[in-house]
Amino acid sequence: MPLIRMRQAAAPEVDLQTTYDAVVVGSGAAGGMAAHVLTSQGMKVLMLEAGKKLDINNELKSMEWPYEHPRRGVMPPGSHALSLNEYTIRQPPYAAGSSFRHVYSYVQGWSGSDYSKNIVVDEKDHPYSGTSYAWVRARLLGGKTNIWGRLALRLSDYDFKGKSHDGYGEDWPIAYADIAPYYDKVDLYLGISGVKENLPQLPDSLFQRPNTLAAAEVTLRNSLKKMDRVLTPYRAGVTTDGLKHNKYRSKCFGRGACSRRAGGCDIHAAFDSPTGLIYPALDTGHLTLRTNATAREVLVDPKTGKARGVAFVDTETGRSYEARAAVVILAASTLESARLLLLSKSTTHPNGIGNSSGHVGHNFCEHVMGPGVTGLVKDRIGTPRTLDDGRPGNFYVPRFRNLKDRNPNFIRGYGFEGGAGTTMFPEHASGTPGFGATFKKSVRDRAGAYISMGGFGEVLARYENYIDLDPTLKDRWGIPTTRFHYKFGDNEKKMCEDMANAAQEMFEAAGFEILDVTRNMLTEGWSIHELGTARMGTDPKTSVLNQFQQSHDVKNLFVVDGSSHVSASCQNPTWTIMALAWRSCEYLATEFKKGNLS
Ligand SMILES: Cc1cc2nc3c(=O)[nH]c(=O)nc-3n(C[C@H](O)[C@H](O)[C@H](O)COP(=O)(O)OP(=O)(O)OC[C@H]3O[C@@H](n4cnc5c(N)ncnc54)[C@H](O)[C@@H]3O)c2cc1C
Ligand code: SF4
Repeated sequence: MPLIRMRQAAAPEVDLQTTYDAVVVGSGAAGGMAAHVLTSQGMKVLMLEAGKKLDINNELKSMEWPYEHPRRGVMPPGSHALSLNEYTIRQPPYAAGSSFRHVYSYVQGWSGSDYSKNIVVDEKDHPYSGTSYAWVRARLLGGKTNIWGRLALRLSDYDFKGKSHDGYGEDWPIAYADIAPYYDKVDLYLGISGVKENLPQLPDSLFQRPNTLAAAEVTLRNSLKKMDRVLTPYRAGVTTDGLKHNKYRSKCFGRGACSRRAGGCDIHAAFDSPTGLIYPALDTGHLTLRTNATAREVLVDPKTGKARGVAFVDTETGRSYEARAAVVILAASTLESARLLLLSKSTTHPNGIGNSSGHVGHNFCEHVMGPGVTGLVKDRIGTPRTLDDGRPGNFYVPRFRNLKDRNPNFIRGYGFEGGAGTTMFPEHASGTPGFGATFKKSVRDRAGAYISMGGFGEVLARYENYIDLDPTLKDRWGIPTTRFHYKFGDNEKKMCEDMANAAQEMFEAAGFEILDVTRNMLTEGWSIHELGTARMGTDPKTSVLNQFQQSHDVKNLFVVDGSSHVSASCQNPTWTIMALAWRSCEYLATEFKKGNLS
């Protein structure tokens, strides 16, 4: 039973005869933020979301025990989650010819898959082609924010000015000082927990109450200090002190439900776009929400070449409609927004709207994952159990490579996410040797003695890594699908070798017994942090958007999601996506009111 019963604002019906001030495509982190900022500026906004509005509290059932579920939380027979081997050995479309009724991405291989089966897409309806790619998508109101991992990090000038630092790629058209006030706004409006560390490579947020570190995590933190490295409590996009201005969200009660399943918090202490942004926007009376509306093209006025609205298909009935708006804002997620730009071909924009540079789909980047370490903390064996899993996250080790030093083998850097401590379900039981009473004692004694961490590294943005439209393959709605031309390069491989070695070195220095060092890279896509297919820049010949995520070619077209990122950094992107969207939409509203977008 959720602690919060929300009276959700009634959404007005979409009026296809009206010209809205703005139409926003997508309702995740980016679309939700656009709706919040524009409606609070008094603009009349229509939001088109391809997925359903699910009763998310009932869907997540965060506190349901495994024994209360007929299959202990597992999806029904006939449903299949793609495995690592399928991604690496086979080529997409991965569900083609499958005898399973439903095929999902690898996230559905995690425990509690029945709770997210309506959240992530069925690969049978949403095929894609090209090179191997583990693409995780969520089509419903709120998109992937319904199940995100909540690690909420800022980027720094090591990221925004990466080229000035090491000569590679392009600098962003903004510096940290330009976005810092908007990170502050996001922190205050949505809530974030963490500890100030004063690191130039990972700027601090305006934090609410932090998580407490488990004993083994404190040991590692103290040991890393001697190496001039930092372990900080997980910077979680979670309100731990509560938010007086938001009636839809509770503060975190540390129920430890975060890590039980793919994610999701049925009291909405963890940020999700519907309760954090969209319901408050509906309360202004300025937002109209149309779910089950799959955008298929940005419509263009042939006389002016400007955007005039969006053509969409009803996801349930397949019927086609057109919505009119003075400004079009794409926020369908990095790859879907690029796909929409490419789908929007007209006589004025023959390569797709906003694509005179030919850069749409290119400079695609993300994070590489795989290498990591697991250790045993011997002095924790047999100690009394502690309450460690009532936390929305555990720890983060920020980037330490290529800051003051220059690594001879690779440029840019990586960070680690990790955890230790006693959890309600002893995850390591299956790997513990033994049998009968001795086995049970061993599981109990070692319950709080494991520690592990895994890396997230920056994948360099390269023009030759790109997506385009498949010439023949279509999705369930007859819309041409995305085709990948994307591979990790030498820098990522060298970085991953270093990641594994550094992880081992840090655990050894802390006195942990090394149980396992993972050296392999996971398939492209595994990080679920796709970025950079319509990058910002000052030169319209080599970039798609300006610093306000406004198309260089079409002044009433904005793309406010991760597609605008110039480089991937190694920090998780969602907080940056929202800070940038806030900044751009504030600019958009000002320009709109001055009449500069018409
Ligand atoms: C399991 C998991 C863990 C994660 N952990 C973290 C983390 O710890 N930290 C972090 O920073 N990030 C994390 N992420 C990534 C994070 O969720 C994304 O960065 C964020 O949601 C991106 O926001 P978005 O609005 O661009 O896209 P989305 O949230 O994907 O929203 C896009 C929306 O657009 C809709 N849409 C798509 N195409 C169309 C169309 N044609 N017409 C209409 N609507 C359309 C979709 O249905 C969706 O609702 C995680 C993601 C997952 C799945
Ligand atoms: S630990 Fe906090 S954020 Fe996580 S599910 Fe529980 S209440 Fe929500």
